[in-house]
Amino acid sequence: MKKIAVFTSGGDSPGMNACLRAVVRTGIRNDLEVFGIMEGYKGMIAGEFRQMDTQSVSNIIQRGGTILKSARCKAFITKEGRKKAYLQLKKVGIDGIVAIGGDGTFTGADIFMKEYPDIKIVGCPGTIDNDLYGTDFTIGFDTAVNTAMDAIDRIKDTANSHNRLFFVEVMGRDVGYIALRSGIATGAEAVLLPERHTDYDRLITEIEKNYRLKNRSIIVVVAEGDEMGGALKVAKTVGKKFKELDIRVSILGHIQRGGRPTALERVNASWMGMEAVKALLEGDKGVMIGMVNNKVKRTTFEKAIKNKKTMNPYLVELAHLLA
Ligand code: ATP
Repeated sequence: MKKIAVFTSGGDSPGMNACLRAVVRTGIRNDLEVFGIMEGYKGMIAGEFRQMDTQSVSNIIQRGGTILKSARCKAFITKEGRKKAYLQLKKVGIDGIVAIGGDGTFTGADIFMKEYPDIKIVGCPGTIDNDLYGTDFTIGFDTAVNTAMDAIDRIKDTANSHNRLFFVEVMGRDVGYIALRSGIATGAEAVLLPERHTDYDRLITEIEKNYRLKNRSIIVVVAEGDEMGGALKVAKTVGKKFKELDIRVSILGHIQRGGRPTALERVNASWMGMEAVKALLEGDKGVMIGMVNNKVKRTTFEKAIKNKKTMNPYLVELAHLLA
């Protein structure tokens, strides 16, 4: 292997820069030429490649977002699109690729490698949702949880001053990892998750007990994919039951995607980036590098995409027990 490329794809997440920095530097220190592909598969098809040197990734470890930019690319889903991408890679002489992205990115990479087996692809899990099997943490997750925690702490201050009932919506259309951890970390009275049936009666009892009778503020953290339909809908439903309550909704939205990555994020993302290049140098391909029990672990793309990650039941218990 002489030339490798790296790209970021799908939704951006804090820590992607740390990961690509590690890929570039590990590659160069192992005598590889390293290219950055702009805007994921879109740039691959368009031939938007930039040769990277160690300086090109200086001063980015602390920055959110991705200097290579990210994009969603419909053309790569077609055979013709992938052929164009292959020809562009061949023109530069690229033999190996590190793809930083989520399950869609790995699905595309898997299909591509079956069509063009001479190009080896290894993945690093870049998504704030933490929804990939084969890793305890995806790149961006820890920062998103900390951002949500910080925002909920602030909301809690004002909720306490006015004895308000707040429904705070955090990101997580299909999975509730951000909601669960930020809910535990902020001492939320309830956490509503897409993976679990929402116990509406329990929620009502909790509100009755704490808010109406003791005149206390309440924070309910709602993952956007909760079965009741997100914070606005939950607030509306609960509002019908408690007409006199001062109910507020706060949707945290895209602030959870940005910001300086946490120390844990920077370290894990760097470690996974280094391991991805090592995997390519060893001739491995079609694997995602994950972090399992504080060690790097390789899982095939197929497993990472198809297998469902199970939510830690102890954390769910903890959220209920301490609420
Ligand atoms: P996130 O979890 O943040 O959404 P992701 O990697 O899952 O990240 P997607 O938009 O689903 O984000 O996928 C990124 C890109 O991967 C798509 O824009 C597309 O170019 C490519 N891709 C996704 N699915 C396929 C597929 N079935 N075949 C080929 N390419 C695909």
